[in-house]
Amino acid sequence: MSDLSAFSLAGKRILVTGANTGIGQGIAVAAARAGAAIVAVGRSSMDETANQVEAAAGGAAFSPVMCDLADHKAAQEMLDAAWISGGPIDGLVNNAGIIRRADAVDFPETDWDEVVDLNLKTTFFLSQAFARHVVAAGRPCRIVNIASVLSFQGGIRVASYTASKHGVLGLTRLLACEWAAKGINVNAIAPGYIVTNNTTALRQDEERSASILSRIPAGRWGEPGDIGDAAVFLLAPASRYMHGATIPVDGGWLAR
Ligand code: NAP
Repeated sequence: MSDLSAFSLAGKRILVTGANTGIGQGIAVAAARAGAAIVAVGRSSMDETANQVEAAAGGAAFSPVMCDLADHKAAQEMLDAAWISGGPIDGLVNNAGIIRRADAVDFPETDWDEVVDLNLKTTFFLSQAFARHVVAAGRPCRIVNIASVLSFQGGIRVASYTASKHGVLGLTRLLACEWAAKGINVNAIAPGYIVTNNTTALRQDEERSASILSRIPAGRWGEPGDIGDAAVFLLAPASRYMHGATIPVDGGWLAR
């Protein structure tokens, strides 16, 4: 396979969590542009993403699904319902995630539990629900997890986030090892510093913001579309021999 169709998502149905804004929105738009039908899952209105998808890929199928993914059982039920009512799903993007900031000595238990539950536990159980369907149907499929540069680095004041994102890297490897032989490619993207709600606090801190920017070889913060295009690659036939990789898309941050 060497033509451009290796990079196409035509005929594929891709479910993206946290698709109403930020990186998830960028992935939904990029996947639709590559030809996919989008199932956009989250707890907020998907109207803005629907409009962006229509502008980028007029006529692309777009199904908004409301679900609070903090409850992993609700997440699994959502996936079952989306599969049964809308038909098979070819790719799952575990993107929804949260961050909480506090010094480690003061870090509250709720900020530990909420972050680890959504970023790690729901990622696992949603992947499990998805894998049960694809294995039963005998279909090949893709899972793309959104990790972080904090899957490789420690960070500051984000204990539960760093733990959860290191966990996402490990889980990506474990699931790849167990599921590659079942036709499921499991990989992850480690975004660097991207302009989204997740980084509002950092960007509002002039000193931190300048120091981060000065360390990015590309000389700019990332945009959601930078991650979207990398996700298309991991969802498309072109990446068929990739299993268990966590790819930095970070403007060179981790290369320093
Ligand atoms: P964001 O703009 O805050 O987006 C987070 C998404 O997750 C939103 O759609 C949010 O929905 C959704 N979400 C949060 N809690 C949810 C819940 N309980 N149920 C359903 N959806 C929920 O931040 P982002 O930067 O795009 O983050 C997307 C992913 O990228 C996260 O996994 C994050 O850790 C990762 N990441 C981001 C960066 C970065 O620099 N921005 C870097 C590395 C990794 P609401 O809008 O309704 O809250």
